[in-house]
Amino acid sequence: MKLTVVGCTGSMSGPYSAASCYLVQGRGICPETGEDREFNVVFDLGPGSFGQLWRYVDPRKIDAVVFSHLHADHMADVISLHVYRRWHPEGGLGPVLLGGPSNLMERVRGIDGADETENYETEFKPLILQAGETFEIGPLRITPYEGWHTVESFGFRVEGPSEGDASHRVTLAYTGDTDYCESMEQMATGVELLLSEAGFTKTDKVRGVHLTGARAAELAKNAGAQAMVLTHIQPWTDTEVVLREARQVWAGAISVAYAGATYTI
Ligand SMILES: [Zn+2]
Ligand SMILES: [Zn+2]
Repeated sequence: MKLTVVGCTGSMSGPYSAASCYLVQGRGICPETGEDREFNVVFDLGPGSFGQLWRYVDPRKIDAVVFSHLHADHMADVISLHVYRRWHPEGGLGPVLLGGPSNLMERVRGIDGADETENYETEFKPLILQAGETFEIGPLRITPYEGWHTVESFGFRVEGPSEGDASHRVTLAYTGDTDYCESMEQMATGVELLLSEAGFTKTDKVRGVHLTGARAAELAKNAGAQAMVLTHIQPWTDTEVVLREARQVWAGAISVAYAGATYTI
């Protein structure tokens, strides 16, 4: 399984990166055709990320797009994906699985500026996520866990084949946007890699929105994660501050996401 950071800037696009977007790839057998191939799942599609995604995968080969929640910084580029799939010069590309919280299609229409007669059925196959309801994309098993944020939000535990030995299964977890909660701890239990948001620093006192570097580190420590990548850091925040806060809490392997970073698991 391979994780590529397509965009990682918190809450908006930034000077060095698009907003939240992560590509998870795993090789396995296609249940429909029996073919052995790479499966491509995109988690979140924030502003500017669809264009950046082309650098890492042919967009026609995306198997699923899954939204952690429906704040614009995690889904606004769904409109680029819609235009690409519907109006591609080689013909419509057919419906791709689009996963997200309960008001998914209403939010897509809102961002697009479309009315209720638009159902996007030629390009999207909606999947409304439920905490604990696992779904599979090729060899990747994805389980949503409820987050603690200002709107309905999920983190994901993804289990898939190890990159050097497909018979061995490995796991990664992505928090989406969330503050510290028990379900995030369950999600991250024993994972090889935790991709954790750290949208706040300790100067932010409000709760129920984001993790800080310290709370992300507490999550990694309590869940027994093997390594952690910090993401969703706002462009006005010095990443060193977040990293320092995290390192004071956990002595494990911590790094900071950047656009183009790839992690092989
Ligand atoms: Zn966000
Ligand atoms: Zn959010």
